[in-house]
Amino acid sequence: MSDERKTLEQRHQMSDLERLRHSAAHVLATAILRIWPEAQFAAGPPVENGFYYDVDLPHRISPEDFEKIEAEMKKEIKANNVFERTTVSRAEAIALAESGRLGGLSERPGNVSKFKIGNLQDIPEGEEISLYRNGDFLDLCAGPHVMRTGNIGAFKLTSVASAYYKGDEKNPQLQRIYGTAFKNKTELEAYFTMLEEAKKRDHRKLGKELELFCFDDDVGPGLPLWLPRGTVLIEEIEKLAKETEFAGGYDRVRTPHLARENMYLTSGHLPYYAESMFPPMELIEESGRQRRKEIEAELSASFEPPTDGPMGRDEEQRSEKRKALLTEFNDVGDRYYLKAMNCPHHHKLFGAVPRSYRDLPLRLAEYGTCYRYEQSGELFGLMRVRAMQMNDAHIYCTEAQFASEFHAVNEMYLKYFKIFGIDRYQFRFSTHDPRELGKKFVDQSELWLKTENMVRDVLVASGAPFVEVANEAAFYGPKIDIQIWNVIGKEFTLATNQVDFAVPARFGLTYKDRDNSSKTPLCIHRAPLGTHERFIGFLIEHYAGNFPLWLSPEQVRVLPIGGDDEPDAKDVIDYARAIQTELRSAGVRATIDVTSDPIKAKIASAETMKVHTMLVIGKRDLEAGNVAVRVHGKGNLGAKPRAEVVADLLAAIKERRS
Ligand SMILES: [Zn+2]
Ligand SMILES: [Zn+2]
Repeated sequence: MSDERKTLEQRHQMSDLERLRHSAAHVLATAILRIWPEAQFAAGPPVENGFYYDVDLPHRISPEDFEKIEAEMKKEIKANNVFERTTVSRAEAIALAESGRLGGLSERPGNVSKFKIGNLQDIPEGEEISLYRNGDFLDLCAGPHVMRTGNIGAFKLTSVASAYYKGDEKNPQLQRIYGTAFKNKTELEAYFTMLEEAKKRDHRKLGKELELFCFDDDVGPGLPLWLPRGTVLIEEIEKLAKETEFAGGYDRVRTPHLARENMYLTSGHLPYYAESMFPPMELIEESGRQRRKEIEAELSASFEPPTDGPMGRDEEQRSEKRKALLTEFNDVGDRYYLKAMNCPHHHKLFGAVPRSYRDLPLRLAEYGTCYRYEQSGELFGLMRVRAMQMNDAHIYCTEAQFASEFHAVNEMYLKYFKIFGIDRYQFRFSTHDPRELGKKFVDQSELWLKTENMVRDVLVASGAPFVEVANEAAFYGPKIDIQIWNVIGKEFTLATNQVDFAVPARFGLTYKDRDNSSKTPLCIHRAPLGTHERFIGFLIEHYAGNFPLWLSPEQVRVLPIGGDDEPDAKDVIDYARAIQTELRSAGVRATIDVTSDPIKAKIASAETMKVHTMLVIGKRDLEAGNVAVRVHGKGNLGAKPRAEVVADLLAAIKERRS
């Protein structure tokens, strides 16, 4: 979370709920001051799901204090004070802070509002300095706020943590009081119900209970191991992706999990991305290291802009020189990196065969395994891992083909959302900022505008909800992040789509156009299903572990009444086994429980593992050629003819019914 000051533009974009929550932060400060008048306040912004205020106070606030603070907050809300805005000069603001008045209920001689003085320093010269007052509480604040304290419908303090002033550990440590607020009580209660539900659905908890995946210290943190049941999820999703991509005209490829250092120098991942990669495997003598450093410097200089245009002779010479340098680099010794992304490998595959315009668009797909060195503090279940399998593909196309290719990728997302019952989603379209060309973004103004227009047109045409954010594109082109919400309203960033008009040139990728000229393709990076790890983490919580039949690790469990060791039950068990065999021959993940446990216990054990369909079989079913169907979460659906049940199951699986 960033403690950076919000820009005026960001403030302008604050939603009604954010205004309400930020207003609740002022009310929180008011209440704390009523109890502890000496309190000093730093910053109190709205955050995802609520707000906080950082306070400096000798008393250590604990959750036991919340009731008392909340009671004071309620009084301030009941008073329905107006949030009154005034503007002051910098000198006036400093004088108010020095008197202790800013972030206080009154002047406090000898108790200077020191953090407010620090905050004042962050306000750029020329920007208006404003104060907000509700009742006695006066604060330095750029707003915006709701009209009156009474507009805060419902709130609750949630936790207390510690935080450094302005996020800098050299600064004093403050107490951060968190809370949340909503328009009304119903929404507040719905939020806490959602949190409770989210706890029950936690993928780490369900992953363990349902035997889907595990972590092991000897294997290493952030390196998930997939148990058989979890592997089923992976393979079903991969099957879906392969079918969808095949129909979409993709070709599958396979690439190794590591590559030589020089490839990442070409791609530009080294040195810029080195921190996110696992350290290299060294196959190099000490003597070679120095020479390699020199080559690295020469190489990076050779990527500086050419003096006589991109296709000039100068560029040709530089390309020759680069080749020679890379050859020498390899001769000196070797260093290998685990791949953090699949793009460079795929670029090599594009370049492996002479390409003509007839080959385009070329769509290379792979569930590629990548390794990223996430800090251990960042690791979180399946959501943040160090080894991941990505639903990756790179589409190489001409400018003329770009729009339809991009459209097809969007359609693929929507198709997946439908299958997984994801009703709420948003495309976040990140564009460049012309002021940052040549710095944060590749210096190709025309291509930026052209590709951004194309992406925007596709988004508008598709009718999918999207927001546009400037200055957040990738270095080499505009990107789209897809945000989705699971059924209980928890937000999740699924994947990124990127347009790349810079890296193919670095790799010297070309195709022969109709007029026999050599051209560089555009590249679309896309991964609609993200990585198996994150996506399955999402699905576990989305479904609460109750996977639809097609995805269910154990689709059917046949439960004969009676056990293997009971001679009376032999006929029933033979019949049950025949059903299991029939299902397995048709590719259904069917098991059988032939223990002599009572049928109630058999059902309970299948329900615990969230087996999708249970087929209960007794003597009467055998005689009638029936099976009694029970579905997890739906209970007993009654007895039906065996053939009908089998046909239903096969159809539901084939159609991937939800
Ligand atoms: Zn404010
Ligand atoms: Zn890529």
